[in-house]
Amino acid sequence: MSIPRLHLPLAPSEIAAFLARLALPDGFGRGVVEEFERRFAALFDRHHAIAFCRARSALYHLLQCLDLPPGSDVAISGLHVADFVNMIRLAGFRPVVVDLEADSYSIDMADLAAKTGAKTSCLLVTPLSGHSPDLARLAAFAKERQLVLIEDCSQAFSTEFQGRRAGSFGRAAIYSLSLLKSVSTMRGGVVTTDDAHLAERLRGRAAKAGKASRLSLAGEAIKQAVIALATWRPLFSLVVLPLLRVTSGLNDLFSRFQKSNRTVSLRASMPKAFLEAFSWPQAALGLGQLASFERREKRRIDLAVALRGAILPARGFSLPRLTEGSRNCWWLFPLLTDHPAALKAHLARHGIDSAPMLLSALASEEAFLAMGFKAPNAERLKARTLFVPLHEAMSGDDVERVAAALLAFQSPTAPKGP
Ligand SMILES: *Cc1c(COP(=O)(O)O)cnc(C)c1O
Repeated sequence: MSIPRLHLPLAPSEIAAFLARLALPDGFGRGVVEEFERRFAALFDRHHAIAFCRARSALYHLLQCLDLPPGSDVAISGLHVADFVNMIRLAGFRPVVVDLEADSYSIDMADLAAKTGAKTSCLLVTPLSGHSPDLARLAAFAKERQLVLIEDCSQAFSTEFQGRRAGSFGRAAIYSLSLLKSVSTMRGGVVTTDDAHLAERLRGRAAKAGKASRLSLAGEAIKQAVIALATWRPLFSLVVLPLLRVTSGLNDLFSRFQKSNRTVSLRASMPKAFLEAFSWPQAALGLGQLASFERREKRRIDLAVALRGAILPARGFSLPRLTEGSRNCWWLFPLLTDHPAALKAHLARHGIDSAPMLLSALASEEAFLAMGFKAPNAERLKARTLFVPLHEAMSGDDVERVAAALLAFQSPTAPKGP
């Protein structure tokens, strides 16, 4: 049977239970959000965790609670959720896009130093697909330049650097709880921090949030149920992958369905949907996800280490360079290739699905062109990244199949055979 690109963290039974809870009056869920926040903070060894309706909303509130000089520069790396640029602007700051290294997902320190000036007040660091940059060096840089360091650990829940979890190097960290994230609650975002004063201000913000839209959450649950069905292996093998093979290239129908913001715009105001509260049915999902978190992370990391071991040394593609001292949590398993469409088609012939990078290259987003961002490596990395399947529902045999198919790939420019 074919191997789908993804496996939802939420089981169909959890999605069904979520829909049922959405129909209950709020009185049923008293204390559930607080309990989720307490357990989240405990799991990540932080004093405080505050939940918002999305990670982007969490960033917006966090930036406004850090006492940064109004209008100052906030540095963000070149591959990101496009709306993070809007959140920085709407919070009252100027986004500055920093490039990544050419062969890794780490921030390019030279570009960071060049773009950091007297007006820079904050640095947002984002480990991509679990790949950690040198967080100690970034923390030292932030300290020296008096920047507030924050980490977006949405793709790096259990990544470590020098034995310390990502998310513990800055003043605060944010985690997305959206589709596929290691703790998934349909949608949601958490800020963790050890700073009691900051936590109190954030709690004040969260308490003022509008009521969560149950209709919109139900819509998200149905979308996830559709994805669960489409990636159910018998159906995926017989119908979905064959359809994807004939209908689409790199950015296929599946990716477009999966992506939450299909168009990027320069927002003039905060959408009401971004200012909603995190609801108790979401928190109830989160408690279940926290309970199984360590087991799911360990399983995925074990499979990733096996896959990596089986495909090195790579030919026809490469792997983003790992930072010395880091422990990757392999949220996804990326390859870099100059021929992503050819590799994708090759894998599909072997019954193996794969996916492009869904994050935006901020410097090439049409809506942001006037801001003059420059991050050519990030643009190239996005174009060259292909994610192969790597998830906890895979067997050891599946991993061997992926490895064998990758080893059989002949890059179109590579010399053919003996
Ligand atoms: C998934 C993801 C987000 C998502 O943000 P939301 O506002 O919760 O949708 C943010 N940052 C990164 C790096 C992500 O991967």
